[in-house]
Amino acid sequence: MSSRHDKGVNVQVLLRCRPFSDDELRSNAPHVVTCNDQQREVAVSQNIAGKQIDRVFTFDKVFGPNAHQKDLYEQAVIPIVNEVLEGFNCTIFAYGQTGTGKTYTMEGDCKRTKSGPKGVLPSGAGVIPRAVKQIFDTLEHQNAEYSVKVTFLELYNEEITDLLAPEEISKVVEEKQKKLLPLMEDGKGGVLVKGLEEEIVTSASEIFTLLERGSAKRKTAETLLNKQSSRSHSLFSITIHIKEANPEGEELIKCGKLNLVDLAGSENISRSGAREGRAREAGEINKSLLTLGRVITALVEHLGHIPYRDSKLTRLLRDSLGGRTKTCIIATVSPAVHCLEETLSTLDYAHRAK
Ligand code: ADP
Ligand code: MG
Repeated sequence: MSSRHDKGVNVQVLLRCRPFSDDELRSNAPHVVTCNDQQREVAVSQNIAGKQIDRVFTFDKVFGPNAHQKDLYEQAVIPIVNEVLEGFNCTIFAYGQTGTGKTYTMEGDCKRTKSGPKGVLPSGAGVIPRAVKQIFDTLEHQNAEYSVKVTFLELYNEEITDLLAPEEISKVVEEKQKKLLPLMEDGKGGVLVKGLEEEIVTSASEIFTLLERGSAKRKTAETLLNKQSSRSHSLFSITIHIKEANPEGEELIKCGKLNLVDLAGSENISRSGAREGRAREAGEINKSLLTLGRVITALVEHLGHIPYRDSKLTRLLRDSLGGRTKTCIIATVSPAVHCLEETLSTLDYAHRAK
């Protein structure tokens, strides 16, 4: 591991490049991104109007277009989930331009991929179902009492909505507004989202139903309320309590939390950054993404002040970013030339987090 891990900074930055889409293949789009997974390098090269761009970036891990969901999970996520099972809080972010595979990486594509024998995940399953499976596979083989709870929320324009709440979306749309949940201090130095549904999960298979329910709700709200999911963040949190007895017979409770964050499309910050001073709404929408960048920079550079309080997302994740926690950023890019500008900005952003 690189030296910054020795300095106690537990931020890992990975790069994933998706394969060409069918449309890109049909149009014979040239590819401008080349991944070397073994060397952990990503090269971008393109000649634009006689000007040659050649840049190479190195990350903690690189997953090129041929990498499977399983590869990314086994190489990057297993150690993080082990940490959570030991009672620590960890966070995994997917960061990148809309359409580059953030949701594919986090949730996956289970409908279009065949599932194996019972108990085996479909090959398209992403980080969330795989993490839940690892958690239950481990807990079921331990001789300890445990509980697993999940929450799933969406953050849009600094407002929180519950993706697991059972309320009727049609009724909500008639009122032209959704039920917004307040973020409050819990009096113990943490925060809580008042009224957020907490689901107790007893087996890994239940997670698919929950994910589907949450994702369907996100999509319905998006179409009916005429907004774009590319501007919202989703946060799926899994909290594990394990009750154990030590050799002296004393009871110990370990509590770990895993946060899985599908961030708003990164094009939202680069564009608004270029057009500073636009409507305040744009600033509100991007506040969490911008603040997250500052928090990560402050953590990596060991700055004294970490601006957690400046956005809802960083307030929500305060107990899971920095200190003894492990953070993993999965930056996603497209290989195609028409995404070049955003690809370079994602690579620069992700590289700065190292
Ligand atoms: P985002 O959430 O970043 O907007 P999506 O996850 O929705 O992007 O991905 C866009 C499309 O590309 C989807 O159809 C998805 O299935 C596909 N895709 C993304 N990454 C991969 C990958 N690594 N392998 C295969 N298909 C992918
Ligand atoms: Mg998405």
